Amino acid sequence: MTFTLFFIILIACPIASMGAKWTYNGPDGEHHWSTHYPFCGGAFQSPIDFQTQLLRYDPNLPHIQIQNYNLSTNEQLTLGNNGHSVQLSLPSHMYISSLPHRYSASQLHFHWGSSNLLTGSEHTVNGKRFAAEMHVVHFNSDKYPNISMAVDKQDGLAVLGVFIEIGDSNPAFDKFLKYINGIKYRDQKIQVPAFNIRELLPTRLDEYYRYDGSLTTPPCYPSVLWTVFRKPVTISRKQFLALASALYASYAQESAPVPLHGNYRKPQLTDNRVILVSFKDGIHGIISVASPFQRRQVIQKLLVGDLADLADDGLSQLLPKLNPLPGAAQKQHWPKNKVPSNTVVKNMPTSPYMGTLDLNNGLCFESLEKNVIRQLQRYHVKGQMVQALREVIFPELNLRSYLDCKSDLDLETIRQLVQGRPRDEAVELEQSLTKAMRRQVRKQIKRQRNPNLKSITGHPQATIIKERNLESSYNRLQQVERED
Ligand SMILES: [Zn+2]
Repeated sequence: MTFTLFFIILIACPIASMGAKWTYNGPDGEHHWSTHYPFCGGAFQSPIDFQTQLLRYDPNLPHIQIQNYNLSTNEQLTLGNNGHSVQLSLPSHMYISSLPHRYSASQLHFHWGSSNLLTGSEHTVNGKRFAAEMHVVHFNSDKYPNISMAVDKQDGLAVLGVFIEIGDSNPAFDKFLKYINGIKYRDQKIQVPAFNIRELLPTRLDEYYRYDGSLTTPPCYPSVLWTVFRKPVTISRKQFLALASALYASYAQESAPVPLHGNYRKPQLTDNRVILVSFKDGIHGIISVASPFQRRQVIQKLLVGDLADLADDGLSQLLPKLNPLPGAAQKQHWPKNKVPSNTVVKNMPTSPYMGTLDLNNGLCFESLEKNVIRQLQRYHVKGQMVQALREVIFPELNLRSYLDCKSDLDLETIRQLVQGRPRDEAVELEQSLTKAMRRQVRKQIKRQRNPNLKSITGHPQATIIKERNLESSYNRLQQVERED
């Protein structure tokens, strides 16, 4: 179904509005975020569960290098309660230097459980939830002057995630926790002396998960390059309780104070994404990341190559790798510098899809949202923002992420790429591909429902999420077939 057609058959419902109230539970809870923040129901959302089968070892992922994290105690930082978390402002002279752009720090904040539920991390590992999670938020300061300009851009943010578990007391955390009673209520802020922020991070900065995702709170823009460190840091139970029981989500003047806890978002669908990891020890049967060069070739074939050949022999190149076989770890080293995605499309003949897909420029989610709202109004259709936005952004996000080896190629993206090709060849390729994917997904669901394989898939919760992901791809495939 094309996007234009999509508008015409929609039924009216309210259009998104910005700045609406949101919470983690109740009528404004996460299942309702997308009513006012349509990206929250859309593509490439965070957090996700780091399932073993989604991990791809990338030997070229460098150690995370951070600069100027050791702040002088003469410097003052703002510690605040924003009603959703406790947040510490950070100066922009702190930055990450090991990413494709310079990402300067803006703030750090936490997500946690409650005093009687010591689990509240956002990301999970095979379904395991840690006690809490810290996010150090950075913005792309090479391209944008400040975080407000960067937040809705596809390459705007980089967040360092740190799992926190209960264990030994952590003196670095006391450097701000000791002031926490000064910000008990929403919108309260105080100035605190700066300290060495590096001490809040785990010792090892070389082992991490990397994927393309989103803000985990409204407006949920998919603008975050995520790095989540493998090893957790510890805090004591007392320190955890200071976070989990000292704060309120409500204003000081409210008569019924609302405790601030359980402020974590549930795992989101993987949307054909994979998770690159910089480590492979302790992970049975992990496969290596694909070569960016091969991926460029696949896209080139789709745009200008022989589609009949692809339909006959090349399907395996297009199918997602759903099932790493135990012991099948490959030792491949790809060139140090990945092929930048902007060189890929530039030298290719323009297809109608590529006419609208400009990989040389970043995506701006706020203006996309405005465009979609305008289009919906133009066609006298008020609503379905979530689906409409997803139709616009998913193929582009998927293609960018695929070229950067952080996603498998989605059928919808392939359909868009071959739109300008001879119709019979495109249809033949799509039919072969749909069938092959259905076979693969069915096989995978069957395999995961086999209880004998529990030991490979790990935690039962992970199995449920995995099935949700697979079933959603399966349903989408069925839908594609019905539409045909
Ligand atoms: Zn966060």
